[in-house]
Amino acid sequence: MGGAEVFSDNSSKHDMAERLWELEELALLDGLTRLSNRRHLDAELQSRIQEVQRYGMSLGVLFMDIDDFKKINDRCGHAIGDLVLQTVANTLALMGRPFDLFGRWGGEEFVGLIRNVNQDALVKIGQRCRALVEQSATAFKDDCDLRVTISLGATLCRPDDTLDSLMDRADRLMYEGKRQGKNRLVVG
Ligand code: GH3
Ligand code: MG
Ligand code: MG
Repeated sequence: MGGAEVFSDNSSKHDMAERLWELEELALLDGLTRLSNRRHLDAELQSRIQEVQRYGMSLGVLFMDIDDFKKINDRCGHAIGDLVLQTVANTLALMGRPFDLFGRWGGEEFVGLIRNVNQDALVKIGQRCRALVEQSATAFKDDCDLRVTISLGATLCRPDDTLDSLMDRADRLMYEGKRQGKNRLVVG
């Protein structure tokens, strides 16, 4: 009887473990896209940067931002905007190898953390993301005249980088892509 008995019941323990697992998952996943959220990306970035600095491993960052997303919301509605975010997220999730991580940085911004990579390979992966997002947009043609593209900044972590310096550089490269006309990748 009473509370103590609950803990001697194995099925309750199992339920609790499962619930705990669900809560951990919720804490690290973005609700809309089911990709890793900013909190998880930050934690992963801290570990990966340490790997670069302590063990000389490589880490590539892809910083991606949907082009003219405000127009998509304005022209097609917020619900279609959400659907576009989910579709881009699904496309990126398919791109990742098991040791890569794609997550939602915020709003219409996504980040890919690519391990064990050099600059050429990082650019190839980024260009594949860009091309796949452009192609996936055709699925929306019936709903609204939609063109969905992303601009990307691609950069390798340097030994003296902090999380902020690395992500600022990736963000600035992405903006350079916008400045050059969008739907493009700039590496640096
Ligand atoms: P640029 O090509 O320069 O990136 O322009 P942009 O319109 O994509 O960028 P801007 O930062 O002006 O607008 C981003 C928009 O993204 C504004 C905001 O309402 C929308 N947004 C952010 N989060 C969500 C979301 O979860 N769902 C939807 N539908 N829209 C969102
Ligand atoms: Mg943005
Ligand atoms: Mg944008």
